[in-house]
Amino acid sequence: MILTVIISYLITFLFGTLIGNFTTTIFHRLPRNIMISGFDKKLTQPPFCSNCGHILRFYEYLPILSWFSTFGKCNYCHIAITKSYIALEILIGLIAIILYYLFGQNLEYFFIYFCFATLVILNIFIYLKHNFVPINITLGIIALGIIYRTLTDQEILLWVTSLSFAAIISLWIIRNSLVDIRNSGNKNAISTATVIVHLILPASLWCQNYGVLIFTTIIIFLRLFPSAIMNKLNYPIGIITILFIGLYY
Ligand SMILES: [Zn+2]
Repeated sequence: MILTVIISYLITFLFGTLIGNFTTTIFHRLPRNIMISGFDKKLTQPPFCSNCGHILRFYEYLPILSWFSTFGKCNYCHIAITKSYIALEILIGLIAIILYYLFGQNLEYFFIYFCFATLVILNIFIYLKHNFVPINITLGIIALGIIYRTLTDQEILLWVTSLSFAAIISLWIIRNSLVDIRNSGNKNAISTATVIVHLILPASLWCQNYGVLIFTTIIIFLRLFPSAIMNKLNYPIGIITILFIGLYY
């Protein structure tokens, strides 16, 4: 009995690190506009060293193991591999274990929350390294939120209303920031506005009733302290709060 439990957790961790391994590929390629996967071999690049460009053999990109087998260095140019790759793999493996512990009885919720958490972590890593939030990944978080709300609410009216409300507020915020740029030449206004939009839209789906509270707080905050919004930690803190509220429900 205990052995079965241990094995199922081990498999879950392995599953998490495999997805984590794929996440590192997206983390590296998405901001650089390198194609991630496809059936066209000419357009798709197999895994390669980001420094010397050498194509990796399969055992050189296994999750976690390859990092230890090569002592964290490329086998060809011997440059140290960024620690954020192995950190992503281990982190997503651990998240899989925690979510399996919480939602193991209900695999559909386990998968939805696992995808949600993975996309959130990926967005935070990309944002902290490259200073932008990728729209494709936020769209993924929104699409998952729609599936999640349809499963939990058993009706679509509620999420359609809150998503529409969030979309109207987003347009209002973007419009204001454009006016701000025209009047004061403040170029930061638009990046602040996009960070808020990347938080408001997921919040409207994942936070249910709290969603409205979060919109209101963000807007009051924006009106009172426009410069405080520029803090680099606002996006990570905001999206992790949304993740925890989503899990709490
Ligand atoms: Zn190399």
